[in-house]
Amino acid sequence: MRTSQPTRRGLLAASLAGFAAGAAGQGCAPGGRGKQLSVVCVGGHPDDPESGCGGTLARYSEAGHKVSIVYLTRGERGIPGKSLDEAARIRTAEAQEACRILKARPVFAGQIDGATELNSGRVADFTKLLAAETPDLVFAQWPLDTHMDHQVAGLLTIRAYYALGGGFRLYFYEVDAGSQTQGYRPTDYIEITAVREKKKSALFAHKSQHGEEIYRRHHELMENFRGREARVTAAEAFVHLYCDTSPAELPLL
Ligand SMILES: [Zn+2]
Repeated sequence: MRTSQPTRRGLLAASLAGFAAGAAGQGCAPGGRGKQLSVVCVGGHPDDPESGCGGTLARYSEAGHKVSIVYLTRGERGIPGKSLDEAARIRTAEAQEACRILKARPVFAGQIDGATELNSGRVADFTKLLAAETPDLVFAQWPLDTHMDHQVAGLLTIRAYYALGGGFRLYFYEVDAGSQTQGYRPTDYIEITAVREKKKSALFAHKSQHGEEIYRRHHELMENFRGREARVTAAEAFVHLYCDTSPAELPLL
């Protein structure tokens, strides 16, 4: 049984090396240690992946791994006074700039902000899109969330995981904890102290979303709190979907 307490295991999990080794080692991921991983992050809107795991993604890209960010929508309803097309154009450009900073490749999944759908056709389309990324490691939004688009992003990823036979390791991330993400008990922590400025730059690229204010009011607090739990300055926290068999994740056994 996993725990959210800052156990020895949690401290060790704060090492990206261990995290990546777990992703490429035994268990449900293909490949072996030392290979270049394909890391994919799925979010409902532009700025969700950057908010929830921008630091971790920066660390993976800096370590030489291939990083893609799948935006389920282009944030069409995210700019008051703008048409869906205008907002999509502005927010697509912001997402592309954020990905340039994080050295990630943007992928747009084609659903519409505020009207995302979860049905068999959408699952088939999303599974195909995710399979094309040949992921070793996927981060998705935790599906208990007050925003339905965030839920759909998480649930589509879970359905794709099942459809693809669990051929990758799946972790969930949190956004605006307590207000959007609900009922979240982390299993793993990644220290992001050294890449915090890069994460902020990526988040602040979302000018239409007032990234600085969102960061100050929500995500800076979360990074500090998760850092306390992991006993580092700043951290991002994840929930791992039940692949608990890797020795890299249970280092005391
Ligand atoms: Zn969002």
